[in-house]
Amino acid sequence: MITIAVDGPAASGKGTLSRQLAAHFGLHYLDTGSLYRAVGLKALNEGIDLAEENTVARIAAELDDDILDDPRLREPGVGEAASKVAMLTGVRNALLNYQREFAQRHPGAVLDGRDIATVVCPDADVKLFVTASVAERARRRYKELLQTDPLVKLEDIQAEIERRDARDCSRSAAPLHQAEDAHLLDTTNLDIETAMNAAVLLVKKAMAQQDLN
Ligand code: C5P
Repeated sequence: MITIAVDGPAASGKGTLSRQLAAHFGLHYLDTGSLYRAVGLKALNEGIDLAEENTVARIAAELDDDILDDPRLREPGVGEAASKVAMLTGVRNALLNYQREFAQRHPGAVLDGRDIATVVCPDADVKLFVTASVAERARRRYKELLQTDPLVKLEDIQAEIERRDARDCSRSAAPLHQAEDAHLLDTTNLDIETAMNAAVLLVKKAMAQQDLN
C-alpha cells in the first residue's frame, strides 16, 4: 500500500502530475478539489448563501459521486465558490472521511488538494508540494479555459487565482501550506516531463524504503 499526497495552489500543475503518477504506478487518483467544487456548484444552483455553514455542510455530507463528472465544476466561478465553502470547518469535516477512505484503496492512491499532507493523510508515504509563480499559473489556466471560452481574459484569471490563493492560505481551517516533510516541486520553469521524472524518483525511493521495512 502506498499513499501519495500532492498539495499546491490553484493551477500549479498538481492535477496533471498526480493523474500521471497514478497512471504510472497503477494507483487510484482523487482530485479532492472536485469535492469542494461540487459543494460550491450545488450551493450556487440551489441559491444557498455560501457562508451558511450548516446548510452547506449538509450538501457536503450528502454529496453524490455523479456530480464529480459535471463539466461546470471547472468554471472559474465554481472554483471561487469552492474556495469560499472550503473555509467552513463543517464542510471540511463532512468531506474528510470520504478522502481518508479513498486513500485506503488497494494497491494505493494519489490524492491532490491543499491539505492532503497536513490534514487528510499526514502519514502519506510521499508528500509533494507543487507550486509555480502566479503569472505562470494564470497563463496555464488561461490557455486551458480559452479552448471553451474565447472571451476569457488573462487578467481576470490571474485576479481570480490571487483571490483564491489569499483565501486558501489565510483561512483558519486547514490552510494551504507546505508540510515540513514534503518535497517542493516548483514547476515555473519545468515542463511536465521533468516534474514527472522528479516525482517518479521520489515515489520509487519511498517504495524501496517500504520493501526494506
Ligand atoms: O484544486 P482546485 O482548484 O480544484 O480546488 C478548488 C478549491 O477547493 C480550492 O481553491 C480550495 O479552496 C479548495 N480545496 C481545499 N482543500 C483541498 C482541495 C481543494 O480547500 N484539499
